[in-house]
Amino acid sequence: MSALELQNLTRRFGPTTAVDEVSLKIAPGELISLLGPSGSGKSTVLRMIGGFETASAGRILIEGRDMTPLPPERRPTGMVFQSHALWPHMTVAGNIGFGLRLRRLNRDEIRRKVDEVLALVGLAGFGERSPAKLSGGQQQRVALARSLVLEPKVLLLDEPFASLDQHLREHLRDEVREIQRRLGITMIFVTHGQDEALAIADRIAVMRAGRLEQIGRPEQIYRRPESEFVAGFIGQIS
Ligand code: ADP
Ligand code: MG
Repeated sequence: MSALELQNLTRRFGPTTAVDEVSLKIAPGELISLLGPSGSGKSTVLRMIGGFETASAGRILIEGRDMTPLPPERRPTGMVFQSHALWPHMTVAGNIGFGLRLRRLNRDEIRRKVDEVLALVGLAGFGERSPAKLSGGQQQRVALARSLVLEPKVLLLDEPFASLDQHLREHLRDEVREIQRRLGITMIFVTHGQDEALAIADRIAVMRAGRLEQIGRPEQIYRRPESEFVAGFIGQIS
């Protein structure tokens, strides 16, 4: 069974079709990169999977269960955005543990899970710090930890490191890949940078104007682009 399946997923905003009949199956533990230029519908696909945007048509299945009518809190998904939106009045541990408190885990259990995930993202010992005092990269690690601690079945990352400098971006994407492999978690990593998609993904799904233009392993996309659009987009120097 697929970890995630999209069936003819469509979203219209008035006259604009932001996402146009996108169908896709993702295997458990697979990392798919959704690649495409700005405005091609990547964020809208992700927001629909997370439940933050309703679908105009089509379905979203996770492990075979229909998620389409469910609100975000009832979906086994986590989301990391470009801007981290950490709660400034809480410590790092408070930020990460907040969702666990809502789930009524006891204090010791929360501390254990928070410490575990802090170590996983390379921030062991940072629990009592204030998020405002962390660097941009460290803040994104906290945002990642905050999602991971809830053990989502599918983790959705929307250009999570786009605001960071290239060196740090490359470093963090390699770390995400490492964490993804270690946990065996299914991920969708949205990017508009083909170098990033080629480096990180098991398969790349190329989007153009709301449609899925081509999907395949990085070397297939790179060596055998099926359209001039894909060839041109992949061939760009970023
Ligand atoms: P990407 O993430 O690839 O840059 P988006 O999913 O953000 O693309 O946007 C796809 C299209 O949908 C764009 O034309 C955008 O203007 C439009 N769009 C996205 N969100 C809205 C909205 N809330 N209202 C109207 N149009 C929107
Ligand atoms: Mg976007």
